[in-house]
Amino acid sequence: MHDLSRRKLLKATAVGAGAVALPGLLSGGTPGFAADTAGWSSSEKHPPARLTGRIVRPQDPDYADASLGWDELFVRYPLVIVFAQETQDVVNALTWARQNDVALRVRSGRHSLEGWSNVDNGIVIDVSELKSTDIDVAARVARVGAGLNQLEAVTALAEHDLAATTGTEGSVGLSGATLGGGFGFLTRYLGMACDSLIGAEVVLPHGADGAKAVEVDLHHHSDLLWALRGAGNGNFGIVTSLTYQAAPLRSVAYLQATWEGLDDLHGVFDTWQRSAPFTDPRLGTQLEIHKSQILLFGVLAEGSEAEARHLLEPVLSIGSPQVTVQLGNWGDIYSGFQVPIEDEPANWKFFSQFTNEPFPRKAISVIRGF
Ligand SMILES: Cc1cc2nc3c(=O)[nH]c(=O)nc-3n(C[C@H](O)[C@H](O)[C@H](O)COP(=O)(O)OP(=O)(O)OC[C@H]3O[C@@H](n4cnc5c(N)ncnc54)[C@H](O)[C@@H]3O)c2cc1C
Repeated sequence: MHDLSRRKLLKATAVGAGAVALPGLLSGGTPGFAADTAGWSSSEKHPPARLTGRIVRPQDPDYADASLGWDELFVRYPLVIVFAQETQDVVNALTWARQNDVALRVRSGRHSLEGWSNVDNGIVIDVSELKSTDIDVAARVARVGAGLNQLEAVTALAEHDLAATTGTEGSVGLSGATLGGGFGFLTRYLGMACDSLIGAEVVLPHGADGAKAVEVDLHHHSDLLWALRGAGNGNFGIVTSLTYQAAPLRSVAYLQATWEGLDDLHGVFDTWQRSAPFTDPRLGTQLEIHKSQILLFGVLAEGSEAEARHLLEPVLSIGSPQVTVQLGNWGDIYSGFQVPIEDEPANWKFFSQFTNEPFPRKAISVIRGF
C-alpha cells in the first residue's frame, strides 16, 4: 500500500470539506474522501453492491429513533440508515452509495452540534454498533470499534488503570470526539484525544465505484492518520476502528466547589482564568456559570485530596464555596459525574471558542448579566 502524498490527499478531500460544511447543498454522491487507488484502475467497476448490516428504512417502526440525532434542532429524513455490524457492511454501504449516486453521511454517537451526521434523502452509515475492545495492557495499546461512546471507552481502559483523553460527556461518540480533536479534563495531562490516536481502520472509495478498508498508522498511510487527528469528521473516510496509545492512570482526585449566587463571580472567574492554564499539568478544571450558582470541577491525575485543595486554594479562598473531594478510579469518577441524557435539553445551539487573553472585567460583567 503506498502512502498518499499530503498535497494529493488535500486535493482529493477539498470537495469533502465543502460537502461537510454545506450538507444541504449536496445533491448526491460521496463526500470527497481520500481514495485508495492501489491495485485498481480508477475506471474499473465493482459488482453491484447490496446493503448489509441492520438496515432501517422510513417505513420501519424504529425509523424515528434510528434517524433522530442527540440535538433535535436538526431533523433530517434519510432514505436509509445502515447500522454496520462489521467493516464489510461499511464497505458495501459506501459502494452502494457511489453506484447509486446517493448522498451519504457518517454517524457514530449522534452528537454533532450542527446536524452533520444526517442527511435528507441520503444514506446514513452508522458505526455505533461496532463495539469491539481489544486492549494490550502490557503495551498500553487499545484497539476499539468506532461505535464506542466515551463512557464505554473510559470504562474499558480504566478497568486496566489506563486512560486516554476524552471529552466530558459520556454519551458523545469516541469517534466524533477523537476525529475532531477531543478536549477534556485530562487534556493538560495527556494532550487532546487525537494525540493518543496511533492507528485506525478506514473505509475509503476504491476504483470507479467501490470501497475498501485500509489500515492506517504511523508507518502506513501516515498522511491519512495525520489528517484524521483533528480533521477526520466525515472528511477523509469512514473510520471503523481506532487504536490508541493509552497512558497509566491509577486514580484521580475529583473536586467540586459550589458558590451560591453570583456575588463572587468576578473574583472566582478572574482568579481561575489566571491560574488554570499555568497550574500543575495534572490538574484539569472546568468553571460553569449558571443563573444563580458558580460550579468549579477539577480532576487531578494521580493526586491526593490535600494536593487538589492546595492547587485550587487561590480560587477556593474566595467567598464560602461548598467543597467536596472524591478519590477514585477514573472510570468510576467519570461515570459518576454523567448527566442523564433525559435531563438535557432536546434543542441546543452552542459552539466553542478559544481565547488567548484573560476576559476583562467588563466581559465578566456581561456573563453575569446574561
Ligand atoms: C453535550 C455535548 C458535550 C460535548 N462535550 C465535549 C467535550 O467535553 N470535549 C470535546 O472535545 N467535545 C465535546 N463535544 C463535541 C463533540 O465531541 C462533537 O460534537 C463530536 O463530533 C460528536 O461526535 P459523535 O460521534 O457523538 O457525533 P456524530 O453526530 O455521530 O458525528 C459527528 C461528526 O463526526 C463524523 N463522524 C462520526 N463518526 C465517524 C467515523 N467513524 N468516521 C468518520 N467520521 C465520523 C460525522 O460525520 C459528523 O461530521 C460535545 C458535544 C455535545 C453535544
